[in-house]
Amino acid sequence: MTLRNDISDIVLSEEKIISLAKSLGEKITEDYKDKNPLLVGLLKGSIMFMGDLIKYIDTHVEIDFMDVSSYSGTKSSGDVKIIKDLNQSVEDRHILFVEDIIDTGQTLNAIIDLIEYRKAASVEIVTLLDKPANRKVDVDVKYVGTEIPDGFVVGYGLDFDEKYRNLPYIGLLKPEIYQ
Ligand code: 5GP
Ligand code: MG
Ligand code: MG
Repeated sequence: MTLRNDISDIVLSEEKIISLAKSLGEKITEDYKDKNPLLVGLLKGSIMFMGDLIKYIDTHVEIDFMDVSSYSGTKSSGDVKIIKDLNQSVEDRHILFVEDIIDTGQTLNAIIDLIEYRKAASVEIVTLLDKPANRKVDVDVKYVGTEIPDGFVVGYGLDFDEKYRNLPYIGLLKPEIYQ
């Protein structure tokens, strides 16, 4: 039994992911030249994308990570609890959030408010995947790898029950696995 058996469709191949990371990296290079941005990855889903994206950014950047989770029972409010905060101040820094996927938008919406409150010079988002069908709050996402239709995907950092993060591609999980 391999992990591939649990996947019904490959949504993004390894090759496609790399070509998206490359074109996003090139745009970010242009936009952030000499700005020394702080790239903030949201744990744990963004780990692989962060690793690939920064290979294609050809100007100085720093990286850091945050871990947040939604307050249980108040899902719809979009309140987030900080599990791990940044190691440094964001004051007067250009912040670029690095996300695996944007779904309802609630997580980023809440964190962006926090980072703006901490007086960042600018705040933008880069995400590999966007599922606009599920959006509940408006978030302004400057850099999107690709839009995908509704459906639960795993791999390339994204999990189901902490599993499947190690798949090198993005795949649709067979419904019988999570139902
Ligand atoms: P939201 O935008 O709804 O606040 O939260 C986005 C987060 O929910 C993502 O960073 C990811 O952790 C999780 N998520 C949303 N859609 C999916 C999906 O299709 N598959 C997986 N594995 N996680 C998802
Ligand atoms: Mg995430
Ligand atoms: Mg998850």
